Amino acid sequence: MIRRVDHIAIAVRGLAERLGFWSDAMGLEVGGVHTVDSEGVKVAFLPADDTKIELLEPLGADTSVGKFLEKRGEGLHHITFEVSDLPVMLEKLKSKGVQVLGDMRVGAEGHRVAFLHPRSAGGVLVELVEGAESHEPVDDGPISAGSAVLLYLREPQEKIWGVLRRLDASGATIEGIDLASFDDWVAQVEREEPSVAGPSMLFVPMIRVEKMLLDRSSGGLPSLAERFFRRTGRSVQEVIAEAAAEADDPSA
Ligand code: ZN
Repeated sequence: MIRRVDHIAIAVRGLAERLGFWSDAMGLEVGGVHTVDSEGVKVAFLPADDTKIELLEPLGADTSVGKFLEKRGEGLHHITFEVSDLPVMLEKLKSKGVQVLGDMRVGAEGHRVAFLHPRSAGGVLVELVEGAESHEPVDDGPISAGSAVLLYLREPQEKIWGVLRRLDASGATIEGIDLASFDDWVAQVEREEPSVAGPSMLFVPMIRVEKMLLDRSSGGLPSLAERFFRRTGRSVQEVIAEAAAEADDPSA
């Protein structure tokens, strides 16, 4: 499934000249410039919200971008989409008759990538990159309101997963669900059933808090929020906010 546009790549004859438009005139900041010898290209990245513009200047006429310029002139080179599960996506595309260029491979940043033939896409080269963990809102800082957390409680022992709303000396307010019910709840959301066993707002006094961990992907294991996303295609924050809005609305 497609998540977002990762970047839009544009072939240019000279970076310096085209940065005049993209950076000076459009106001995008240059996030980095680097040379990729193996691809025969010099690249400038210009972040734009959660996507970016990638300018490609060939290192020579016989590079792939050099040949592209020769044939088609400056302009759109490829569009890259981030997808959640590349092999599944490729199977689906193939079943619809889309021509995949070569095999899935590991790209520059260590993610699996694949290209779709421009012939299948009306003349546009489409790149797909799998970025399951790369673009999640990564919370590397301390736990704070809005973080997805795992809360371990004592007396009695319980584990609660949820989104932290407030944390102070008296305790933690969390919009959460007992970990044991998490999978049932995800299945419910997946089937688009009205949520009866969804997260609710809880206050846990500090004396019952044994520990609190950030819900994050580690060692190849996806976080619970990521698992939720993979199964339902929706962000857990969004679903919780929706459920809360429904609960507030007596007419619903
Ligand atoms: Zn690219």
